[in-house]
Amino acid sequence: SKENVLLMQQQASVQTLRVELGDRSYPIAIGESLLCSGDILRQYIKGQKIAIVTNTVVAPLYLAGVEQALRTIGKQVISIVLPDGEEHKNLANLMLIFDALLEAKCDRKITLLALGGGVIGDMTGFAAASYMRGVPFVQIPTTLLSQVDSSVGGKTGINHPLGKNMIGAFYQPQAVIADTATLNTLPDRELSAGLAEVIKHGAIIDAPFFEWIEAHIAKLRAKDPEALAYAISRSCEIKADVVRQDEREGGLRAILNFGHTFGHAIESGLGYGKWLHGEAVGCGMVMAADLSFRMGYIDYVSKVRIQKLVEAAGLPVVAPDLGEDRWLELMEVDKKNEDGKIKFILLKPLGAPIITGVPKEMLLATLRASI
Ligand code: NAD
Ligand code: MG
Repeated sequence: SKENVLLMQQQASVQTLRVELGDRSYPIAIGESLLCSGDILRQYIKGQKIAIVTNTVVAPLYLAGVEQALRTIGKQVISIVLPDGEEHKNLANLMLIFDALLEAKCDRKITLLALGGGVIGDMTGFAAASYMRGVPFVQIPTTLLSQVDSSVGGKTGINHPLGKNMIGAFYQPQAVIADTATLNTLPDRELSAGLAEVIKHGAIIDAPFFEWIEAHIAKLRAKDPEALAYAISRSCEIKADVVRQDEREGGLRAILNFGHTFGHAIESGLGYGKWLHGEAVGCGMVMAADLSFRMGYIDYVSKVRIQKLVEAAGLPVVAPDLGEDRWLELMEVDKKNEDGKIKFILLKPLGAPIITGVPKEMLLATLRASI
């Protein structure tokens, strides 16, 4: 995989990866205190006129610093501050972005800059994909989840009252700037949720990385900048490599849904927002590991390692008791399924994925063991 996502530079402070997608290729810069660095912003943001999109939680923390750094290097800047939260990832707030852009008479040369977590990244990306049929877009993800997951891969969009992420587009950014120092203000619960996707990347693709996470989980939770930078860069490499092979989710990209079939059932069964997405995925990975063990794909030691690591990341490992029938119903309506048949992403062995159906009895045994 390393040959596809080239490690272009490895300095003390900034690491740069490249997501290889032909003429839609783009760099990811990872390091501490990048978002106020004129050099970094000049290198990765080409446009002259920038519209920063952020929210009411992130703006007081980081907006002034980014605005000032951009103005210092001669850019024109407007800022759009949206309300915070998943419930605001909707058409009304997308419209607020368009309103602000049109009022400021922004033309096709405007660059949209997403400053925030996955909610801001997804909405800003979709705004960039559709404003004047597409304008340049740069991401400054400020949550661990957005740095390791949502900022890579080009999925953008908003929620519809009838379904999450139902309206959107594939649209790649020009660059991603992941500043590990922003994680210092992130609540611990949100950090843990991001770690779920980091663990997922190790579990499905890279057993040595999984082992590295086991050895560094305490440092990661303590926000050690070097450990975080490595976890972010390896995660981005893994996701970028999967996306490079399957940009529009024709097949392989589905492996990134490891733990998500169970996870989505938990999220919608409890009502969205009760558990964070990463918490549901953490527990979902423990369940998928149990199912992999029952199917004879991984040994008992691997199953226990996955459970222990999810727990050590500060994530739940006991599934909510939704009732067996409700559980089955929720998994069958998962939008990722074809022909109403449940396909699971399992491990065979730890560090490699397999996409397969399972006997219903096996699934029931996992549900009973996990609740
Ligand atoms: P989020 O954007 O809601 O951020 C979580 C919370 O942390 C918010 O309250 C936010 O304002 C706050 N926050 C952000 N940065 C902060 C900082 N540095 N310090 C303090 N607080 C900060 O949630 P998220 O977990 O980043 O992203 C979840 C969203 O990402 C969901 O909408 C999901 O659908 C989407 N997502 C998209 C993809 C994709 O491929 N596009 C992949 C995974 C998830
Ligand atoms: Mg996820």
